[in-house]
Amino acid sequence: MSFINNWLRPDIKAINAYHIPPSTNMVKLDAMESPFLLSDELTGQYLTYLVDAQLNRYPSASANETQQTLRKLMDIPDEFGVLLGNGSDELIQLLALACDAQDTVLSVEPSFVMYEMIAKFARLNYQSVPLTNDFEIDADVMQKAIETHNPKLIFISYPNNPTGNVFNRIVIERIITSTKAMVVLDEAYYTYATDSFLADIAQYPNLVLLRTVSKIGFAGLRLGLLIATQDTVSQLDKLRLPYNINTLTQVSANFLLQEKNMINANASIILAERQTLFDKLVKINFLKVYLSQANFILFKALNANELFEFLKENGILIKNLSATKQLTDCLRVTIGTEEQNQKFINIVKSFYD
Ligand SMILES: *Cc1c(COP(=O)(O)O)cnc(C)c1O
Repeated sequence: MSFINNWLRPDIKAINAYHIPPSTNMVKLDAMESPFLLSDELTGQYLTYLVDAQLNRYPSASANETQQTLRKLMDIPDEFGVLLGNGSDELIQLLALACDAQDTVLSVEPSFVMYEMIAKFARLNYQSVPLTNDFEIDADVMQKAIETHNPKLIFISYPNNPTGNVFNRIVIERIITSTKAMVVLDEAYYTYATDSFLADIAQYPNLVLLRTVSKIGFAGLRLGLLIATQDTVSQLDKLRLPYNINTLTQVSANFLLQEKNMINANASIILAERQTLFDKLVKINFLKVYLSQANFILFKALNANELFEFLKENGILIKNLSATKQLTDCLRVTIGTEEQNQKFINIVKSFYD
């Protein structure tokens, strides 16, 4: 028996590590990244700006300028508080840390896997409510689960990863108003969706939003944010590690996230490409394609595992979800550039020919 095997908590030994597949030289359509690089002109200006970063000093602890930049980019009202995280994953972890030993975290299934993983790292009780066949939340089942488990935290991805839909707003409102839990709506895909609960924070004290810049072109920065009432943010801020947003991230964000026009233009391209890709996928008989309000499309495929492998052999990496409960034979493709999407479609077609 190795040292670590004796030493480690059994529940952590039992967890399967979050698997990041190798992707060197592949068209990477597996992780909802933006396919767009900075223009040469912007890169030049960015590098000039970076020169002033003082790496001998600790970063700004409050990261005020970065907060202001994000507020402008996302039109966050001044009256709300903002808490920054090293990716929104760190903020999910911070929320789990705020819970008591016996508390329950509730989410839906299938959804973003980090809710469950982080709840378990933090030794919290994790419960999930299955979505209906069309990936909606059954309001009555949810209500029952809230009564049974009396959760402290409810995580809802809005739009939902990996299904791509936004849930019925009325159902979400009913959840928020019928629980003592903090309800965390994870709006990682807000740019690609038609609805948001940002304005609703003013109305619901137990509503907290998560957003990130990862899905809008800046996954490498590792920058996420929690938006809630000032009250909630100033208490939760005590749990944030000092200097959690490093200098390079702050300086980069302060410069690059000013480019609201570029960010919005890139999002518009993705939205148009999502429609094009959807229309093309729908025409392939062996697929069932789900509507999406995010920068990916979920589809059920005949011989999904074989199709996934065939794509990989042909240099395209997507996400295979066919082993996930309720997602049998499902694959998820991130929207790429026109050229990448066309290549993907061609390979899917040739697989079924
Ligand atoms: C990608 C994703 C995140 C992770 O965001 P980071 O800021 O990169 O940590 C959080 N929630 C959902 C639903 C996601 O899909």
